[in-house]
Amino acid sequence: MKIAFFSSEVTPFTKTGGLADVAESLPSALEKEGVELVVVTPRYGAAKTKENPARIGKRTRVYFVEHPGYFSSRQGLYGDRQGDYPDNLDRFSYFCRQGLDHLKKIGFQADVLHCHDWQTALVPVYLKTAYRRDPFFEKSRTVFTIHNMAYQGIFPKEEFSKTGIGAEWFSVNGLEFFGKINLLKGGIQFADTVTTVSPTYAKEIQTKEYGCGLDGVLRTREKHLVGILNGIDADQWNPQTDSEIACNYSVVDLEKKVKNKLALQKSAGLPIGEKIPLVGFVARLAQQKGLELMAGILPRFCAEKGEFILLGTGEDRYHRLFEEFQKECPKRCSIHLKFDASLARQIYAGADFFVIPSVYEPCGLGQMIAMRYGTIPIVRKTGGLADTVRDCDQTPDGNGFVFEEHSSKALYHAIERGIKAFQEKEKWGKLVERAMKCNFSWKASAKEYVRLYERLVGANNYSPLQGMDRKK
Ligand code: ADP
Repeated sequence: MKIAFFSSEVTPFTKTGGLADVAESLPSALEKEGVELVVVTPRYGAAKTKENPARIGKRTRVYFVEHPGYFSSRQGLYGDRQGDYPDNLDRFSYFCRQGLDHLKKIGFQADVLHCHDWQTALVPVYLKTAYRRDPFFEKSRTVFTIHNMAYQGIFPKEEFSKTGIGAEWFSVNGLEFFGKINLLKGGIQFADTVTTVSPTYAKEIQTKEYGCGLDGVLRTREKHLVGILNGIDADQWNPQTDSEIACNYSVVDLEKKVKNKLALQKSAGLPIGEKIPLVGFVARLAQQKGLELMAGILPRFCAEKGEFILLGTGEDRYHRLFEEFQKECPKRCSIHLKFDASLARQIYAGADFFVIPSVYEPCGLGQMIAMRYGTIPIVRKTGGLADTVRDCDQTPDGNGFVFEEHSSKALYHAIERGIKAFQEKEKWGKLVERAMKCNFSWKASAKEYVRLYERLVGANNYSPLQGMDRKK
């Protein structure tokens, strides 16, 4: 099986979010299943290698699409402080075409072209339009993975010619969406299979509440839409070997985890005490993350229940909001408005609870990392959070606390239930153990992707677009 990944960011070379991690870890896990892969990505100015191809995993080659004007002269991936780059449609059309042409150049005839998010959505579109009669891609099928419905790649209709496909595709059955070009819609419509990053999110995005306007389009692809949970790299996130934390530990010497809590309380300027419940939060400060819910409970939580440490950066309004909290509750609240990979690890290791009250969450990595570090997640029942966290008060094999209603009251109640469990030493120890033993590695998901690729390349699985046969 030969797979070509198209991703606009790949760690360790470039990263703005979780997509970059997936673009590195999933190929590494797929290699172990016997898949041969190449990854295609743009070479931005910020790319941390000069090689071409570079390597990830054991054998996967990473090919960089180069262009001085579009990529290497820019430090940002999609934009700068002024906002998105105005020529993003030129840039990513170029990337998709060059990526396809490069596969021809190196003779890598992929069984499946696996594309991620709007930046690569034109690959499935090209295969069924501009490259329709190209014998090199005759047998290639396409998978399009959506990592977040909120980012769609929308451009004015006047720019349509930049895509290089016929004007007839600026239509309801093509890339047109309310008078504009919508690349994500193109990916959804033209790919043979669409996936997203958790089973629950795959269902949610077909509803008006979560579909960001494209729920109707997704419903038309229901039979070709699946959710496969992301994983985490168990070696990269390992409390036994993590060099950034105060004291390494594992499930058999959990008493050492407490040392991390005391060290974190000290460095964060919080009152030090093993018995004070410590709630951690690490995330982008964006509306998606449910910050309003947290804002609604913080003063009362700090006054009555325990300590709170936040690490995050993002929208200005949230920076201001949490700066206010820091002033309001100077003693039991520790706010860090920055990106800090080392402090994030100290929070995963040192906190008792990790809170994720998201409005929506396609998969979410924080809850899986927290559990790996024996830190109990308190999450809203949505997307990947619903698929990974089971409520302790609902099921004997629970690994966290879950609330459903999108309200501060529901969040507070879940925290109260968590603290009650925290106070019962034996019960708590068992819960922490259960959480740490959960397996969120990529292996199971990689196997699911392999099954999906196999189904797709099997007989008669090509999904023609509106009855269009590529061979005609
Ligand atoms: P999203 O992709 O929506 O940002 P995820 O939960 O999928 O959310 O992944 C976010 C990752 O980035 C997590 O590993 C989290 O720990 C990390 N992260 C987010 N904000 C920060 C920060 N300010 N400092 C360090 N790590 C962060």
